Amino acid sequence: MLNLVLFGPPGAGKGTQSEKLIKEYNLIHLSTGDLLRSQIAAGTELGLRAKQLMDQGLLVPDEVVIGMIDYKLRENQPAAASETPTVGGFIFDGFPRTVPQAEALDHLLAQYDTKITTMVALVVDDEELIRRLLKRGETSGRPDDQNEELIRRRVMEYNNKTKPVADYYGQQDKYVAIDGIGDIDTIFEAICSEIKRADVGAE
Ligand code: AMP
Repeated sequence: MLNLVLFGPPGAGKGTQSEKLIKEYNLIHLSTGDLLRSQIAAGTELGLRAKQLMDQGLLVPDEVVIGMIDYKLRENQPAAASETPTVGGFIFDGFPRTVPQAEALDHLLAQYDTKITTMVALVVDDEELIRRLLKRGETSGRPDDQNEELIRRRVMEYNNKTKPVADYYGQQDKYVAIDGIGDIDTIFEAICSEIKRADVGAE
């Protein structure tokens, strides 16, 4: 199993690279941002509560996103232990965003006798992120992409609460940083090389 955490601030290109990675490695894409937006679209209670925080550029509580990931991992396990898994693994996009989320993910994966293979961080400076997100806001339809102050708050949340997650994986020797500025295919190839290195190292 390849279980990849794709890490980086909002606008780093995690969604774009995830799309390519799921095809290349036959992975299931788990994006907590996407899962929360579908709860909002469905008008659920959870969605309504999450929306209030998302609209302010703030993180939603750990237990909410951990619960969603728990559910999705369970949903995607082979029905019987003897059944050969049809998926190559999972790609975690926008999760974990805090150290307690990272600890919970390790714990959840251990229940399925698996673990994170590696965490690849896409590095992009703050001003470039703001430029990219404002541009994305012209077409994404996401309210949190359309206001510079809100975008700055999201980047600040990342710097304050999410960056320490890199150290968490660093302590497990599973952190690698890649330049997230440049050609999409070149960045993709750099991620693939790191996956290969991590996979060989794990054998
Ligand atoms: P994203 O699509 O990953 O940029 O996430 C959009 C918004 O959803 C974030 O600004 C947070 O409010 C919320 N969110 C997504 N994932 C998480 C997470 N793992 N922990 C807390 N909040 C999250």
